[in-house]
Amino acid sequence: MTTLATSPATATAATTPTAAAPAIQVSPEVAREHFLDWLRDAHAMEEQAETMMSAMSGRLEHYPELKQRIDMHIVETQEQARLLETCLARYETDTSTLKDMTGKVMASVHGMASMFASDEVLKGGIMSYAFEHAEIATYTTLIAGARVLGDTESVRVFETILGQERAMADWLAEHMPETTMTYLSLAETAGTGTAKR
Ligand code: MG
Ligand code: FE
Repeated sequence: MTTLATSPATATAATTPTAAAPAIQVSPEVAREHFLDWLRDAHAMEEQAETMMSAMSGRLEHYPELKQRIDMHIVETQEQARLLETCLARYETDTSTLKDMTGKVMASVHGMASMFASDEVLKGGIMSYAFEHAEIATYTTLIAGARVLGDTESVRVFETILGQERAMADWLAEHMPETTMTYLSLAETAGTGTAKR
């Protein structure tokens, strides 16, 4: 057992509330094993995110701004998955195991995925907002784990991704009232079937 203190750099990171994290007693092997599990889960989460957002974007017909923002985040999400692969590769993890992991997504992600299947723009927006926050929590956890391991390159990657997830969540929140008004307007003039998509 060795004492691993969180890096002094922690105190300067404005993006995460971990400045006061105490020194912990943990073996590097244990920290690494769990960190790699979280990293693989995050990769599966991003693949799931791409699938869900592609389905939602494909359904939208009357919400061009929302569709455009989702499409932009799909591109970001594909890059996020690639970046996570580079983090895993630096631990010389056999990337073929990633293929095996793609079907083993967290139950919570599965639950949200089924809600994404809702053929309705407002529910899709609400679930997207919730999903982005699950991603924010995931990367906040990963940053803490990477710091314990002294993996500054992974910390940098996760902070970049975290910024993209926060931006997407903020955009969704800001545009929810407008989307709601469009929905109601379409429901009145063209019917609920049109308003939904
Ligand atoms: Mg993501
Ligand atoms: Fe995201």
